[in-house]
Amino acid sequence: MTIRTRFAPSPTGYLHIGGARTALYSWLFARRHQGRFILRIEDTDLERSTPESVAAILEGMAFLNLDYDEGPFYQTQRFDRYREVLSELIAQGHAYYCTCTKAELEERRAAQIARKEKPRYDRRCREAGHGPSPEAVVRFKNPLEGEVAVDDAVKGRVVFRNDELDDLIIARSDGTPTYKFTVVVDDMDMEITHVIRGDDHLNNTPRQINMLRALDAKPPAYAHIPMILGEDGTRLSKRHGAVSVMQYRDEGYLPEALINYLVRLGWAHGDQEIFTRDEMIALFDIKDVHSAPAAINPKKLLWLNQHYIKTLPAADIGERLRPYLMQRGADLTSGPPLAEVAQALQERAKTLVEMAEHALLFYQKDVTIADPKSRALITAAPRPALMALIETFAALPAWTREAVHAALETVAAAHGLTFGKLAQPVRIAVTGSSVSPPIDVTCGLLGRERCTARLKSALDFTEPRP
Ligand code: GLU
Repeated sequence: MTIRTRFAPSPTGYLHIGGARTALYSWLFARRHQGRFILRIEDTDLERSTPESVAAILEGMAFLNLDYDEGPFYQTQRFDRYREVLSELIAQGHAYYCTCTKAELEERRAAQIARKEKPRYDRRCREAGHGPSPEAVVRFKNPLEGEVAVDDAVKGRVVFRNDELDDLIIARSDGTPTYKFTVVVDDMDMEITHVIRGDDHLNNTPRQINMLRALDAKPPAYAHIPMILGEDGTRLSKRHGAVSVMQYRDEGYLPEALINYLVRLGWAHGDQEIFTRDEMIALFDIKDVHSAPAAINPKKLLWLNQHYIKTLPAADIGERLRPYLMQRGADLTSGPPLAEVAQALQERAKTLVEMAEHALLFYQKDVTIADPKSRALITAAPRPALMALIETFAALPAWTREAVHAALETVAAAHGLTFGKLAQPVRIAVTGSSVSPPIDVTCGLLGRERCTARLKSALDFTEPRP
């Protein structure tokens, strides 16, 4: 049997990390078993679905590199098929037209609550034999007796009594199918073998199984994964920080880090924290997903991000840095190769945003010395030594890191300074800041011209004021 899993988001917002983790688990399970992973956009709720959300979901999937073998399928393009299955269910007596009005349902509901009963549809139209009419909805005839046992791969066995399940609406009065029905038709038609989804859908499962049985289809296996909580243990929301995948990208997180973080939110393999994609595929099993909810851990995500920034090839990181620098107005045609800048900063930046901020100075004409302490240091800098350094720099036969280092050493010694006493004002002059990669690396990358120009403009600072 070929394993077939799906990710079935409703396009009513961005792709948030909960959805991304569901997609990842479904993807991993399919990949681990050489199965197929299907993307299905559940856009039947025409009022809440938007093309922007569809685009955001596809963008998020692409960013995380979660490739799908089939789809994206759009439910709005399958209405004919849903109508066909609906007629089948009605013809076979598994569904019926219901003409109860909203007001009637409300009234009965209030009465049920007053009697301390669980409010639910009282099945009044179940045997009434109504035909189609503009006001009629279609309800599924849920079995009245017996139980539905869901052997959930995460939750274990969950048993539902049929008399607890009411006859849910599967088509609205305008004939459009409801989401709880389209899921069933699609899981059947797409031959889904494993439904992996959030546990907010667990209560839909017995109804879906009953509908699949009514359609003579074999229900898939189910795995309902617990939701992700905020650090404070409450349901995850925007107030806990970034929740959308693309927001994480904008904040400078790498997809490798995010994927690694997400896989561990609810799944573990011993105490291993870092997983390559291949390792995840080889080790992931849906049965090992924890049944208790996991809480976000922004520190761990940052740590993972730093790990991937440090360990991925500099050329790769440099390329990924490009859009962040461009966003910040860097002129990439005028500075050192991105790979070299990335290499100099790999050990220092936890996110690509941080790296871009440190890298900007290599792609700007001038720098400004904003920090008052740095300005004071520059004002007090040894002017003759800086002037001598400019001359020594100009005379270097080749502009290399080693040559820069030797020049600094020579000039410092000639002026009775320690290396650091000269290097620090030079650093401030050429970077605008008191922290940077080693000074020789920084100067090497900046190039002779920019280095010299920045040193000269810093000298304006050191000039004794009249
Ligand atoms: N469309 C549903 C959602 O976004 C998922 C349905 C399912 O996975 O069965 O929550």
